Amino acid sequence: MSPQPVDTSVWANTLEWIRDRVSGQRFETWFSRMRPLEIENDRILIEVPNPFFIEWFERHNLPLLREALRHSLGSGYTVQWRVQPEYYRTPAPDPPSAEMRPAVPAPDPAAVCLSRTPLNPRYSFENFVVGRSNEFSHAACRAVARDPGRAYNPLFIHGSTGLGKTHLMQAIGNALLCERTRCRVVYVYCEKFMNELIEAISSGDTAGFRQRYRNLDVLLIDDIHFLGGREATQEEFFHTFNALHDGRKQIVMTSDRPPKEIENIELRLLSRFSWGLVSDISPPSLETRLAILHRRASVENLSLPDDVALLIANQVRSNVRVLEGSLVKLAALSRLLQAELSVDLAQDVLKDVVDPDGGPRYAPPCIQETVARFFDVPSEALRGKRRTSRIATARQVAMYLCRKHTSLTLNDIGRSFGHRDHSTVLHACGKVARQRVRDSQLESAIHAIEDRLETESRKNRGV
Ligand code: ADP
Ligand code: MG
Repeated sequence: MSPQPVDTSVWANTLEWIRDRVSGQRFETWFSRMRPLEIENDRILIEVPNPFFIEWFERHNLPLLREALRHSLGSGYTVQWRVQPEYYRTPAPDPPSAEMRPAVPAPDPAAVCLSRTPLNPRYSFENFVVGRSNEFSHAACRAVARDPGRAYNPLFIHGSTGLGKTHLMQAIGNALLCERTRCRVVYVYCEKFMNELIEAISSGDTAGFRQRYRNLDVLLIDDIHFLGGREATQEEFFHTFNALHDGRKQIVMTSDRPPKEIENIELRLLSRFSWGLVSDISPPSLETRLAILHRRASVENLSLPDDVALLIANQVRSNVRVLEGSLVKLAALSRLLQAELSVDLAQDVLKDVVDPDGGPRYAPPCIQETVARFFDVPSEALRGKRRTSRIATARQVAMYLCRKHTSLTLNDIGRSFGHRDHSTVLHACGKVARQRVRDSQLESAIHAIEDRLETESRKNRGV
């Protein structure tokens, strides 16, 4: 038999069969992006968007596809792949423009960009332990580091706190800077992006801001959920996004929740977040937690007995930051006491470690208490109706910090401040965010409160 086009109803049946068996997201990401080209004897040729697709698909989805084909075609087929020709026709990211390449070699343009928010060299792919909970995101980040602007653009990674989003995102930056020293990578917290924008607006230098964020090859923007409710920043980010995406520059975003759960975000942005690939990280399995502990121990030059590792890994399940924190504390204590790293010692350390279950870093009552003490007002006043200027400021700062340091919704935050509604919280957060850029006293007050919160929480966790 010579090659024949694949009958559309056969292919529709195949997809239907698969759709009944996988999640919507898995179906959209993998199966709906395939195009059957031709069929010949026991071979079917399928077109896919890019080479990484094949790599991942073969490892994870091929058996299901084969079974589906057997179901709709009646016998076993070998799958062959072809990458969409457009993939090879799209140009690679442009080399840096002339004005970004000064005649004198130093400072390197990339280094200039990076010095804005330096990358942590420990956050590399080599130091990242891959398990089922993160392998998809890891593979996507690797693909982006290999071929920025083309593999998946944008890449959106979500998962609760302490699961390695920042680590993976920075690993892309570290890998790119290692291999392509001329690549202009910018890593920035979403909040910093917003503060810089506000600063640029107030100093009348929005052109400079745009130049900074649009003249680059890779934008890594961390904790994008922070955009929720920040309309002006959303507007600017929308244009930044379009400029970069149109220029085939890579955008990577992380968030503590999936795009559709980010509150108060414009639809046009929301839809863009899902244009490329949306991928999640879930809490690691016991095996992965053990591997992470052993990896960290070897980085720290510690000898970690298996039973101690098992004890820690069993106790801390949902946050890698807490997992590693427990190990570091244990190591410090064993050095201090000149005692071996033993199960006994570990039990001692772990009795105070609270696994926050991926939840908020600080509880709202703790934030309210700390803010109230700082402003010297009773903490009930934050939940009450009084509006003296000191109380109102304290209340707004506390709301802002709840927004920043918990994963609560605006409604939940409003509720914990004497049943205020979400627009009050939104207004307070916006006001504090704007004001802290201009008002150095407020800025240092916020830092001082955050330091106290951190100290309190360390004390409570015993870290
Ligand atoms: P998130 O951004 O998701 O809150 P981070 O990327 O800051 O989390 O990770 C918290 C800590 O846990 C970091 O020190 C990071 O290196 C470590 N970590 C998380 N996941 C892994 C992993 N799979 N392998 C090694 N270290 C990890
Ligand atoms: Mg992070």
